[in-house]
Amino acid sequence: MEEKLRELKTRLGEIKDLEAAANLLEWDQMTYMPPGGAAARAEQLATLRKIAHNLFVSDEIGRLLEELQAEVADLDYDSDEASLVRVTARDYEKERKIPASLVAEMAKATALAHEAWVRARAEANYPHFQPHLQKIVDLNIQMAEALGYEDCLYDALLDLFEPEMKTAQVAQVFDDLKAQLVPLVKAIAERKDAVDDAVLYRDYEEEKQWAFGQEVLRRMGFDFERGRQDKSVHPFTIAFSPNDVRLTTRVYRRQFRTALFGSIHEGGHALYDQGLSLALERTPLCDGASTGIHESQSRLWENVVGRSRSFWTFYFPRLKELFPAQLEGVDSETFYKAINKVQPSMIRVEADEVTYNLHIFLRFEIEKDMLEGKVKLSDLPEAWNAKMKAYLGIVPANDAEGVLQDVHWSMGTIGYFPTYALGNLLAVQFYKQALAEMPEIPAQIERGEFAPLRTWLKERIHVHGKKFTPAELVRRVTGSELSARPFVEYIKAKYGEIYGL
Ligand code: ZN
Repeated sequence: MEEKLRELKTRLGEIKDLEAAANLLEWDQMTYMPPGGAAARAEQLATLRKIAHNLFVSDEIGRLLEELQAEVADLDYDSDEASLVRVTARDYEKERKIPASLVAEMAKATALAHEAWVRARAEANYPHFQPHLQKIVDLNIQMAEALGYEDCLYDALLDLFEPEMKTAQVAQVFDDLKAQLVPLVKAIAERKDAVDDAVLYRDYEEEKQWAFGQEVLRRMGFDFERGRQDKSVHPFTIAFSPNDVRLTTRVYRRQFRTALFGSIHEGGHALYDQGLSLALERTPLCDGASTGIHESQSRLWENVVGRSRSFWTFYFPRLKELFPAQLEGVDSETFYKAINKVQPSMIRVEADEVTYNLHIFLRFEIEKDMLEGKVKLSDLPEAWNAKMKAYLGIVPANDAEGVLQDVHWSMGTIGYFPTYALGNLLAVQFYKQALAEMPEIPAQIERGEFAPLRTWLKERIHVHGKKFTPAELVRRVTGSELSARPFVEYIKAKYGEIYGL
């Protein structure tokens, strides 16, 4: 077994190296690459990804996995070896089912669709994008058929981001949440003047915002010896190894929330990547458990910690030192309320903690309807706007701030959106468990001590990498299943107090 395992690891290690190289090219593309490099970079990335894919779906890997599956049967389920074989075999089966011709067609379609989307959004011209979206939907249906599913097409696509999560379970959890959130948003809207966030739109120097963000990242435990922070138009985090994790941030002088909460959010992703066990390096297990679990870590730090009263009890005096003129006459309590202002808005990425998930329900429902042919693509803007009205009580003035706002569909991605909301729910579920085990966490945060929480997250979640499915991990950490209830309780308590409901 030793020898076969070594051979498998050698092959997987080389594939991981190619993927890391591709990630580095992608990171460079989003940060420092001059615009002229775009066409060449697209070729370079496609070549690296294709070689990595072909090496992975090779017959040799299939043979090794098959032989090793029997041999690791006696090992502990959560041992590195058994997990490596189990998880790699699952990924292998999935990847083998997707025909190379479909991958190529998708790559071509998305290149065109992305360009069309950029223009359509700039011109608020949905009909320009519609034929491309039709192609993307058709290819996703083919993809789902190739992958196979039990209940519905959407299961197959969702599984690519949340292994073994079922559409029916997501729908159930979202329905529970929607029933609570829609009336809450209405009640808050009636008291919208209770919170004023004008202070966040004063002039905050970029350099000082950047410096403050770095202070917070350091204290969270982001290790700048094993990572770095740069600027980019769209913030993201990408890792080449647990010892080299890159995050990016954007800074707006007159929108204080953007840089700081963006940094904390990406910092949460980055702590996950830096916390992965080094024993898993250069294997497929050296990754987050799923997109939703990854998002739970960013949301936990951004919202549950970063938008908490405890956090600002510690940090507000420091912020006032940095920005005395901007924060003149403002106290910690006013600032706490300002950063937590709830405001139904058109754009998902700008949404607050309460309204954010409503944007996701809308996309999830529309994606399912598109795949099942329940909505004609020519009617998509109307379907979008009707749901905005129903859930958030507002209607986009045009399709750029409506159906065209997100990049995901133009990149060929359907089934991804639910993971954002799952991340929000899991963030609170995990934090609740941490509190049950360590009730002193809020007091520690008030003193600027984040290490105990970070260590708990690392030991319970990060080190395991991709060993467990999201459901297995949630059960191991919290002893229960994914549920909307902890999130609902958290939101009602926090915003009930802020808005005096
Ligand atoms: Zn994120």
